[in-house]
Amino acid sequence: MTDNQDKNNSQDRSVAIGEKALGYIKYNQTSAAPDGYELWYNYASGLKPELNNQIKTLLSEQPRIKQDQLDELYTTHFNASEVDDRMEEISSQVAVELNEVMEMVGSSLQNTESYSESLEIFTSELKDIKDEGSLRMMISSMAAATFEMAQNTKELESNLANSKNQIMNLNKDIETIKAESMTDALTAIANRKKFDITLQKEITSSMDTGEPLCLVLGDIDHFKAFNDNHGHQTGDQVLRLVANILKTNVKGKDLAARYGGEEFAIILPQTNLDNAVTVAEQIRKAVMNKELIKKSTGKKLGRVTMSLGIAQFTNTDTIESIIARADKCLYAAKDAGRNNVQTELSEAAPVAAAQ
Ligand code: GH3
Ligand code: MG
Ligand code: MG
Repeated sequence: MTDNQDKNNSQDRSVAIGEKALGYIKYNQTSAAPDGYELWYNYASGLKPELNNQIKTLLSEQPRIKQDQLDELYTTHFNASEVDDRMEEISSQVAVELNEVMEMVGSSLQNTESYSESLEIFTSELKDIKDEGSLRMMISSMAAATFEMAQNTKELESNLANSKNQIMNLNKDIETIKAESMTDALTAIANRKKFDITLQKEITSSMDTGEPLCLVLGDIDHFKAFNDNHGHQTGDQVLRLVANILKTNVKGKDLAARYGGEEFAIILPQTNLDNAVTVAEQIRKAVMNKELIKKSTGKKLGRVTMSLGIAQFTNTDTIESIIARADKCLYAAKDAGRNNVQTELSEAAPVAAAQ
């Protein structure tokens, strides 16, 4: 295929997806502004499976997606660009502040220079002064120049203090944005990005120190059915609850994260397989024992359960291989009937240890 044919094909594809997106906008009667278009374009192209899952679940409960639901979906799935925009805004504010500081320092240097020039002139004139009146005049000119210098310095000090405050506030904003960009919007625990960064860091540290490291992957059982029975929003509440259970059952350097959809991950540094099983079992039992009650109506919704798989880090592991091994154990737990914990050493697990 020639380059031109390639280009034409990809253009045809994107136009077809764009037309589909417009169709969704019209059918759902949602805004055609760029955000809404971006969301429906992604839906039409299937680029974000989790977004498609959520939209399909909503559409199984209602005929159309409402604008406020669309806005929420946009915040959940497209907030990276919002973070970029905010970072850009802050960095341009920092540039403005730095410019101001540089101007202040520049003009202060000029002031200092002209003050020192005045002092030089006074010094050279001093030797020619013979009478008391001239000396007095010179002293009062010197006092005036010194007073002006002191005023300028004071102004500079207060301007610099002001700028320092502004820059410190911007720094805080950056910290807040950084924390937000590492947090899952729905459950308020660490998101996939934070998980990836932390796992890589802990793998490196485990290689350096030889300390054990375990990775737990957990997935809520039959969650599609739960959503179908009780609605997606109630499903979201369950995700928050499970996230809280995870958070309260880990400590110190451990990290509980939402891995995606109804899947969660726990990184357990300095933890061997036996202790990781203990943590995973605690979580499994806490989830199973929690009676679910719909907040808005007080209606009892039964319980959900969770299957968990654990892999212990070996020296030949990469981030991908340890995730793949934990995932295999998770699937072994599903195969073994769900609501249980499996490791590579468990009988039900189909994979050999430390491959
Ligand atoms: P299994 O026991 O094999 O894991 O079955 P399952 O039904 O949990 O698995 P499946 O992968 O078939 O379905 C996952 C479901 O999780 C479907 C999807 O709607 C739901 N889900 C994923 N993300 C979210 C979310 O953010 N909120 C809600 N409420 N549901 C979600
Ligand atoms: Mg799943
Ligand atoms: Mg599931």
